[in-house]
Amino acid sequence: FLSGKRALVTGSTSGIGLAITRALHAEGAEVVLSGFGDEAEIAKLQEELSAPYSGADLSTVDGVAQLMEEAGNVDILVNNAGMQFVAPVEDFPPEKWNKIIALNLSSAFLTSHHAVPYMKKAGWGRIINTASAHSKVASPFKAAYVAAKHGLAGLTKVLALELAEHNITANCISPGYVWTPLVENQIPDTMKARNMSRDDVINKVLLDSQPTKKFVQPAEIGAMAVFLCRDEAQNINGANWSVDGGWTA
Ligand code: NAD
Repeated sequence: FLSGKRALVTGSTSGIGLAITRALHAEGAEVVLSGFGDEAEIAKLQEELSAPYSGADLSTVDGVAQLMEEAGNVDILVNNAGMQFVAPVEDFPPEKWNKIIALNLSSAFLTSHHAVPYMKKAGWGRIINTASAHSKVASPFKAAYVAAKHGLAGLTKVLALELAEHNITANCISPGYVWTPLVENQIPDTMKARNMSRDDVINKVLLDSQPTKKFVQPAEIGAMAVFLCRDEAQNINGANWSVDGGWTA
């Protein structure tokens, strides 16, 4: 049902972004790949999805402008690129704070800033922001991430109100813990910050917050993104959908 629509998912070379891209592509959308990664693996993805690719760094204003230039007009914009850093506030490097705010929050404003004029002209659009359970609740040692995701939820509401009469919706999907490289890579730092073993971090920190005691699968987020693109979802606007096994209940 998405043939003739063009979708840009930021950070689509890995994890959740890749799963969303695959799900939109399976419904017929043209997709654009974005993010970093191994050259050969990205070439393989480009072939699988018949997709152009941009390796622009979205933690800079110029990088986002470059991405939007390379991506062209998009009907579906999924702001998904993000990073994590785990440290007590007094040890949290200010450069990490700036980088996380730039990538996880500012890039979503900047892509929207570039994408909205075409969506308004087309009279249809979908903006979907991968937020997080951390857009609703906090955890210790994640100052920048939690601040950025709460900000992203706020930005999404503003976009929803501004664009509602243009047949453009803006929503957040807020996963709990999804098994992707982003989660796997924070285990060593969490072990250090909490002085715990790997198994204890997985079971007592990560899955402890998720009542189902299961990691969310990236494809589940893909399915939710597809639903938000359907006509039946035209009145779902400014919402923040939890896919977190009950964490924020
Ligand atoms: P991931 O590390 O697997 O993927 C991140 C993607 O962003 C990759 O494609 C990477 O290349 C890209 N990226 C990183 N830095 C970039 C930069 N400077 N410029 C351009 N692209 C960049 O992570 P993921 O788990 O799939 O996370 C995707 C999104 O989902 C993030 O916004 C994350 O905060 C959010 N999220 C993840 C989880 C989880 O448990 N994995 C939970 C809640 C929210």
